[in-house]
Formats: sequence, structure tokens, C-alpha cells
Amino acid sequence: MFVYADNAATTKMSKTAIDAMLPYLDTWYGNASSLYEFGQKSAEALAAARETVAGCLGAEAREITFTSGGSESDNQAILSAAAIGARKGKKHIISTAFEHHAVLHTLKKLEKYGYDITLLDVHENGIVTPEQVRGAIREDTCLVTILFANNEIGTVQPVAEIGAVCREKGVIFHTDAVQAAGHIAIDVKAQNIDMLSISAHKFHGPKGVGALYARRGIPLVNVIEGGAQERGRRAGTENVGGIVAMAAALSEACANLEKNAAYVSALRDKLIAGLKTIPHAALNGDETKRLPGNVNFCFEGIEGESLLLLLDEAGICASSGSACTSGSLDPSHVLLAIGRPHEVAHGSLRLSLCEENTSEQVDYMLREIPRVVEYLRSMSPVWKDLTSGKKQFML
Ligand SMILES: *Cc1c(COP(=O)(O)O)cnc(C)c1O
Repeated sequence: MFVYADNAATTKMSKTAIDAMLPYLDTWYGNASSLYEFGQKSAEALAAARETVAGCLGAEAREITFTSGGSESDNQAILSAAAIGARKGKKHIISTAFEHHAVLHTLKKLEKYGYDITLLDVHENGIVTPEQVRGAIREDTCLVTILFANNEIGTVQPVAEIGAVCREKGVIFHTDAVQAAGHIAIDVKAQNIDMLSISAHKFHGPKGVGALYARRGIPLVNVIEGGAQERGRRAGTENVGGIVAMAAALSEACANLEKNAAYVSALRDKLIAGLKTIPHAALNGDETKRLPGNVNFCFEGIEGESLLLLLDEAGICASSGSACTSGSLDPSHVLLAIGRPHEVAHGSLRLSLCEENTSEQVDYMLREIPRVVEYLRSMSPVWKDLTSGKKQFML
């Protein structure tokens, strides 16, 4: 059996998205900046896609800038808010220890330019509270950037409440909603969000395309300099096919959001309940305040990498954390942020489901994962030390 359970890393494009994209790859391949009628077809498609994406987020079309994906949107949002802050002499930014690296590395860069960065601790359940944000805001704070839903452990943050605190204090609030968009409801106005990043390939759109929402009145700094595309906010010939497909995918995901969430979260809960029966295993992140498709466990006494390789042999595509860090042997910064000790964080497994997964696949994973965990433990010196009492169990 083949099971793709790594939808947090990327998703399969939906048929709707592919069908929407194709005409702009062959028939209507014109440059949207051209003056002739043929190119205007592309410009019209861009305008329609902007309306659609804005509509799905509760924004206005002019507040949407198309980018190359989640990473670029995060970079542009943060650099823009930092520039606005600098003009007012405000160079303090608040974020969290468990952001995506697109955020963390951009903040690191700003630190070199004299910005003061506060990374909030994350509670054991993988949630940051509005009270923590309130307590960290200073006179010179120019930005709060906190992800909507964590990409490794799937925990969903109290975004509207955090946004309300930022509004009250007059601080720009950006959220990386790459894992949330198309999976849980987003309304930038109701949720008090000033800037928000999304990426098409996380909701069955194509890779290499995303969007940044910036509330009217928030000027953006260019990350890509050149032509005047995107009203001067992002240079480069527009990826018309990709953008059209993103709009189609987002609109489809939003139209089916509740139905998909109900179906996928039932699969998730079945998987969680089954994996919990493995001894010395623990779910990472809050059990209910999490994305419909996210399951993330730590198994004591084994290495996540070996687990992934054996699961791959069994036809199961999974991850030990974020795809961007796999290949490195450092334990996940997210698991460390929620207080998992190094040894435990090493034995992590993320399974991320979507509406294409089936109950039979969950049954299969619930047969294979316990078998593989037991096999790896039978060969693990650490497990031996744990069972002989030489080392203390932590889970
Ligand atoms: C995938 C992801 C990104 C990066 O998006 P790309 O489109 O791959 O650049 C950023 N943030 C989060 C939370 C993600 O899951």
C-alpha cells in the first residue's frame, strides 16, 4: 500500500487547479504587462485570481500581492514592517521560538541590522497566549509575527485575540498562515490581521506561488527589484498559470473547508488514538487546538530518521518535522520549544493527512508504525538502558 501522509510538506495539485492553469500555459501565454489584447487575457486572469484570493481571506483585491510562495511572503511582510518601524525609531519585533525558518531567519538577519528580537516561549501544548504578547509589547515594538498554525505540530494559535492586542497597542500583526489557509477559516478583518502569508502548494495548488495580504495603508518594501508588476511591490513577470491555479485551489478548499475538516479530523483522531496505545509515546501539541490533518508523536528510545526510512520501505511517506530541516541531525526547534528534551525530540514522527487519505490507509499505518517502532526499539541501546532502569523514561 502507498500512503502519502506528508501533506504539511506539500500537497498533490487538485484537478480543479490543474484544469484552471492549463489554458494559461498554452492558449493564453501572453505577458500580462503587454498592451495588446492577447496579453490582456493574462492581465484579466490575474485580476480575477486576485479577487478570488482576496475573497477567500476576507480581504480586498488591492490588498493582495502575488509572490513566489510562503517564504517570500514571510520575508516581505517582516522586512516591510521593519522598514515602517525604522522610520519611527521603533526596532523591536516580537515572534515565537517555533516559527518557520522563513520567519526565524529573516528575524536573524534583522538582528544584525540592529533590531531587537523577542522570541516568546511556547506553552507545552504548543500555544502562545495573547497575554504573553501583551506582556512583551514595548514602546518601540513595530511588529508581532506569530504563525497561524504550526507546520510541525499543527497547533492553531489564538490569532484573533493576539491580533486584538496588537490593534489596541498600535502594533502591526503579521501571521504566517501557510498551514492554515484552505484548512481552517481565515478572515483577516474579523481576526484583526494586518499581514498574512499563504502558499499554494500547501492547499493543492502548484509549488512556487503564494500571496501576501497587507492591509490597506501598510506600504510594502520590495524584496525582488525590477519591473513595476504587482503595482510596484514585486517585480518579475507574473506566474499567470500558477496564480490562476492557486486561486482555483484556494477557492475549492474554502468552499469545502468544513466538509474536509470533518472528514480529515476524524482520520486524525483515529490515528492519534491508535498511536497512543504504543508505550512511551506521546502526542506533541494540543489534542484539540490543532490542524485537522496533523498528527505528531514522539517515541522514546528510537531515532526519527530510522523510523522514516523503514516507513518508506512500507510505502508510507512521513516526516520527522519540517521538510526544510530534515537531512540535518539537529532535533526540531519546534519540539525543543514545547519542552521536549533532545533525546525525546529525536524520536519524532509527523503524519499530515488530507481529504485524499482513507480510513484503510489509517488502519495500515496503525499496523505498520507500531511494528516498526517495536523493531527499532529491539535494536536500540537507548531502549535497553531505559528498560533495564539504567536510564529514566521521560515519556
Ligand atoms: C511550507 C511553509 C512555508 C514555506 O512556504 P514555501 O511556499 O514552501 O516557501 C512557510 N511557513 C510555513 C508555516 C510553512 O508550512
